[in-house]
Formats: sequence, structure tokens, C-alpha cells
Amino acid sequence: MNHKSLIAGVIGIALLAVAPLYTSNPYYIHMIGTIMIYAILLFGLDIVVGYTGQVSLGHAGLFGVGSYTAGVMFMKLGAPLWLIIPASIGITAGFGALLALPALRVTGPYLAMVTLAFGTIIQILINEMTFLTEGPLGIKVPKPDLFGAKLDEHGFYWMVLTLMVVSLVVVDRILRSQLGRAFEALRGSPVASDCMGVSVYRYKVYAFVISAGFAGLSGCLYAYSEQYISPNTYNFELTVLFLLAVIMGGRKTRSGALLGAAIIVILPKLLDDLEMFRQVASSLAVLMALGAGIGIAKKITTPKAMAIPVVGTIALAAFSFWLQSITDWRLSIFGLMILFVVYYLQDGIVGFFRGLFARKGASQAMSTQGLDMGRDALSIASNANDCEPGSDMLIAQSVLMQFGGLKAINNVDLRVKRGTIHGLIGPNGSGKSTMMNVLTGIYVPTAGTIEFSGQSLIGRTSSDIALSGIARTFQNVQLFGEMTALQNVQVGLHHTFESNLLDVALQTPRYKREDKAGVERGLGLLNFVGLGELAGEEARNLPYGKQRLLEIARALALDPQLLLLDEPAAGLTAPDIKELIAIIRKIRDHGITVILIEHHMDVVMSICDSVSVLDFGQKIAEGKPAEVQADEKVIEAYLGAPAA
Ligand code: ADP
Ligand code: MG
Repeated sequence: MNHKSLIAGVIGIALLAVAPLYTSNPYYIHMIGTIMIYAILLFGLDIVVGYTGQVSLGHAGLFGVGSYTAGVMFMKLGAPLWLIIPASIGITAGFGALLALPALRVTGPYLAMVTLAFGTIIQILINEMTFLTEGPLGIKVPKPDLFGAKLDEHGFYWMVLTLMVVSLVVVDRILRSQLGRAFEALRGSPVASDCMGVSVYRYKVYAFVISAGFAGLSGCLYAYSEQYISPNTYNFELTVLFLLAVIMGGRKTRSGALLGAAIIVILPKLLDDLEMFRQVASSLAVLMALGAGIGIAKKITTPKAMAIPVVGTIALAAFSFWLQSITDWRLSIFGLMILFVVYYLQDGIVGFFRGLFARKGASQAMSTQGLDMGRDALSIASNANDCEPGSDMLIAQSVLMQFGGLKAINNVDLRVKRGTIHGLIGPNGSGKSTMMNVLTGIYVPTAGTIEFSGQSLIGRTSSDIALSGIARTFQNVQLFGEMTALQNVQVGLHHTFESNLLDVALQTPRYKREDKAGVERGLGLLNFVGLGELAGEEARNLPYGKQRLLEIARALALDPQLLLLDEPAAGLTAPDIKELIAIIRKIRDHGITVILIEHHMDVVMSICDSVSVLDFGQKIAEGKPAEVQADEKVIEAYLGAPAA
């Protein structure tokens, strides 16, 4: 969070706090209260939708669980507020886990369907379990007592505001911690997350459960706010509305969630009032035209791209004045507005304005800083030095990897000695990358054994293998594009964090210490590969060569004993390749063993201690670089496909 948004936030909250003093109309107080209650849910939903990139159509159900926990506990037990709030959060989080554990095994449309089914089941259960929920009759929930006194409309409003601010701060802290980075990483590249020791499945479930906790709090407050709950509130429409609020407001922002909440609360009311609708539609048209004007002047967008939105909003304004009565058109207008946002403001309203006013970062300052050799960023891998150099670190025997009829790896043996750089070469399609995928648990080999430091790797998950000390880069770069260079490396440092959700929420000394150490080591690693100056740049904006170096820094963050590099020099310029060679040497000098897949023969010949050659999935030669280079079978394999 930067300075400006902090100030804006404080002003916004202050305005919300004094709002009840300026209006005696309980209708408006209740409306703003409802917006804040929805916002709490949307903060959580945004973790799932905006950060991990999953779809949930089950959040109205979770909201219902929160409401009914409060309702039932009040009605059956007469439980007090201070008990009901944590219970609502806890029980709803439990339901969230119940939903997430099976649902997150599937993705995309299947996930949408499973979560939708969950929401429907919850609604049916509320309806049918009359002994607990009173069924369609609903439950009356009076305003709660706090410190022995009954809260009035204002008191309740301030309590909701307080809890909204607390939720905002907690969500913000979570998202800026290692947890938030894990959520964002698994959206950016699931395979890279797993290979950095961040289990995609586990963190998806985690995100869902946290999000459910907020839905529970929100639902609980909603029950008190409405003072009456019944099953038909928690329907499909509400769940879609929540999702739209996140998308319309703008994902990955807290202000977007608040704005989205305001839209879904106010819009239906607005469409009941023709006069107000006309005013809003005209203001919207003016704002849109202004925004487009600025955008075009700043060359952020083109006249062509802005034509339809501007004409559309003006047409909407004109239409509003032509209308005699709004009731018949309500749903159509609502639908059109949603379509409009989804088509033209894909980053939501907040994202749109951010893009308009954001100053372009100094992404041109790409000068190479060279290697900062003085800095000792690499802590030597835990037991890299304890074992005798020259012993076998990795022993793969008779590995077979079959894809249908194709034997991508056919009966290959591979031994890699500790502390060496082992080259793996061969023509395109000879199975080199497949070998790497087998070693890192992305594929389970059809047959064969693989031992790493005496332990079998077969059947273990990628994140487990990564945490045991094998890091890698990818032939087709797999960075977390929307995250900065530093954050990418910090994901690699995930294993250094012991602090949990509570540490993060309360910013305990343990968390602060770990976070600070992470930033320092992250910057050190970026310096190590010469990217120190670009720490704050989003990974997707880096030039290709720098992206490859960033992947190496991220892999080193894992503290690996074994580092697998898949064509690190591909696409690099000659000076960059020289720098890369120096970096790889330095990595080896720190005691880290390296397996290097490379097409640039000069690179292979100059730094590898030994080389294995694959062709059509079979190992055809092995030995010292010079021996291999002179081998007839190798020359033959490369004929017609000479190396660069
Ligand atoms: P290299 O990295 O040596 O260029 P790869 O290991 O990428 O080669 O591929 C070896 C062979 O395995 C190729 O024929 C490729 O098409 C095939 N292959 C790799 N991955 C898969 C997969 N997931 N499904 C089917 N075939 C695959
Ligand atoms: Mg390859």
C-alpha cells in the first residue's frame, strides 16, 4: 500500500465514521451498513477470484452459513455477540474447507459447477432442516447487546465499520505476506509454484477457507443488520451478484471490493428511481468522456477503443431521458451495464482509473548492472558441503517415460556427482526436458528408479521434491507475471517462513523478522544475477534475457542442493551468455550441483564437468565434454541439426 492510497483510505473511513451524524434517515445508514457488510465478504472473495484466479459460485451459500450460525445460536442458545462472531467465522471456514477439499481437485467450469451445487445444497438444507433453522419461516434476530447495552442503529453501524476496517487490514496483511504471494503465484504459474515448494492445491484450499471465514463474518453481521433471515436470500442471484461486484469493482484491490459492494447494493435501488437514474446516467457519460479524453491524450488508449464505451454511456443517458417509466426496463439495463463492464473494463472500474492515472514505471532503465560478486547472497545449501564431493547425488536407473506409444525417455541411466556441473544435451525432442520433468515430479516415470541423496523421488509431489532440495528453471519461462521481480524471488523463499495466519494478521515479531530477512535475501539474490535495479519491476515487463536470470534467482531462493537449468541461454545475447556462464560457475562454487540442458555447445564445453547425450530418448554417449564432442554417435545425432 502506498502513501496516497493510505491517506485516501483514512479519509474514506473517517467519512464513513461520521456519516450517521449527518443523516437521521435510518434508510441510508442501513444502506451504507449493508455495503460495508458485503465489502467484508468481497475482500475474501477477491482472495479466491482476484488472487488465486479460481471461480466460486458458492459464496452466497457460505454467506448463508454465517447468517444461520448467528441466527441459530441466538435463537436456540441465546448466545451473546462475542461468542457468535467467532463461531460464525469458524463454522463457515469449516464449511469452506468442506467445499474446497474436493472441489479444488477440479478446475475451470467443473469448479464453477461444484461450487454452484454447494450453494444450492446449502440453500436446500436451510430450507429443509426446520428443527434447526425454522425453514421458510425464517429466524428473527434482534440487534445485539454489546457491553451489556443493546446496540441502536448507530451503534451497530459503528461496530460494522470497525469490523470492516479490521477485515480490510487483515486481508491486506495476508495479501502482502508470504501467503498472499503464494495465492498470486499459483495463478501466475501453477507448475512453477509447485516447483518452488508452494503446493498449489494446499494454497488454493487455504485461500478458500480464509475467504469463507470472511463470508461467515459478513453473513453474521447481515443477520443482525436485517434482523430477520430466511432461506431465499441466499440464492443463485446473490452469488452471481457477489462475483460481479468483484469483477466490476476491480479485482486485486480493496477499494474495488468496496466499490463493487456499493454498486450491487445501490444499483437495484437506483433502477427503482427514474429521476436519480437520469442523474447518474448523465454523470457517468460525462465521467466516461472525460476519462477517455485523458486516456487518449496520455496515449494509454486509442480513440477506437474508447468509441463504444463513450457512445454507450451517452446513449444510456439519452435513453434515461426518453424513458417514461423504468420498471419494465430494470433488468435489461442492469444486464447491459454488467455486459459493458465485463467487455470494456476488464480490470474493473478501479483498475480502469488506476491505469489512466498511473505513471508508467521506469521500465526503460534496463541497463545491466553486472555481477555483484562481492555480495554473498547464496547461503550454501544445507548439507552440500557435509558430504564428500564426488559422491553420487542423483542416481537414476532405467528410467522409462512413455506418452502413449512414444518413449520420450527410454531406459536411461543418469548419475550426477555432487558439486559438479553435468551437461544434458541432444537434438530437439530427444527427451531432455522430459527428464527434468520426471526429476521434479511433474511426470511420474512409467518405470525405473530415481534416488536423490539416498531417497527415492518416485511418486512424490513437485512441491515435496522442491523442498527436499531440487530447484529448477523452465525451457519456456514460467514466471509469476503480475508479480515484481522481488516478489518472484520471495515466492522461492516461501520455505523460510514459519509464521502462520495469526502471525501475519497480528504482524508478530516472528513474522516481521522473517519478512525482513526475506526481503534482504531476495534483494541479495537479485543482485547476484544482476537484477538488483529491477526489483520493483513486474516480471512480465522484463526483457526475455532478464526473465531467464530472474528464474535462476528464484530457483536459488529455494536453497537447493541440485539446480536444474533447462536451456538458460536460449534467446540470450552474446554478452548475456557470458554473464550467465559466470553466474553458473559461481553457483557451482557455492557447492550447488547443476544439471544443465543447453544447445549452445560453447557454453556446455566451457563449464560442464561431464556430459550425457540423449537421442530419441536414449542415452548415446557420456563422459568429459571433449570426449563426447569427438564421439561419432554424437556427431551423427547432431548431423542435420547442428548446434548453434
Ligand atoms: P527436448 O527437451 O529434448 O527437446 P522433450 O523432452 O521436450 O525434448 O520431448 C521429448 C519427446 O516427448 C518429444 O517427442 C515430445 O513431443 C514428447 N513429449 C514431451 N512431453 C509430452 C507430453 N506431455 N505428452 C506427450 N508427448 C510429450
Ligand atoms: Mg526441451
